[in-house]
Amino acid sequence: MTFTYFDQPARWIGVSDQETRCDLCHQQKPCFDATGFFGEDELAFICPDCLSNGRLYERDSYTCQGDVAELKRQLKSLHPALSKAELDDLADQKTLELEKTTPHLVTWQDWEWPCADGEYARFIGYGSRPFYTKLVGNSDARMLFEKSIYYTLAEESDAEELWEDVPRKLIVDYADSSKYSTLFYVFKSLHSDQIITLWDSD
Ligand SMILES: [Zn+2]
Repeated sequence: MTFTYFDQPARWIGVSDQETRCDLCHQQKPCFDATGFFGEDELAFICPDCLSNGRLYERDSYTCQGDVAELKRQLKSLHPALSKAELDDLADQKTLELEKTTPHLVTWQDWEWPCADGEYARFIGYGSRPFYTKLVGNSDARMLFEKSIYYTLAEESDAEELWEDVPRKLIVDYADSSKYSTLFYVFKSLHSDQIITLWDSD
């Protein structure tokens, strides 16, 4: 099960047991819960194969919303020679791919999927102090955390205060994450070591 923008979805959001039936291929197999998807078509379950094979392109259904405005800004600075139409095309194509083929991250609030280096970033897990420490090696985990807060939240977030809410224990899976009423979502650039954090609470 490999997804460009979502590392280890079976661990971070879980799949159902064998008894469910995929709404697209109608096979009975472990599926993702699709009730949180956006769009006009209501789905209950989708299997990982159908999702990664792009079967959602057939439906008015998408699993998340990309931060397309920021993606366009990044693409523009990376490819100054491209025309506005070309940049819009490129951004729209990447956004559609993200929104149609990425497992649905369960969050408290709706927010836009972050991007870095001209691509949508990959969700790699729920933030905790040990997780940031693992990412940054021997340097300062708190500094990494403060630097990683996505621009959309930077103004309203007091990073120092927020660090107090970052779990002291590693969050190992979805069941573990549901014990917290404030969650930190950690993303990594597809092209660099840049880490992005979004957070929300119930
Ligand atoms: Zn299927």
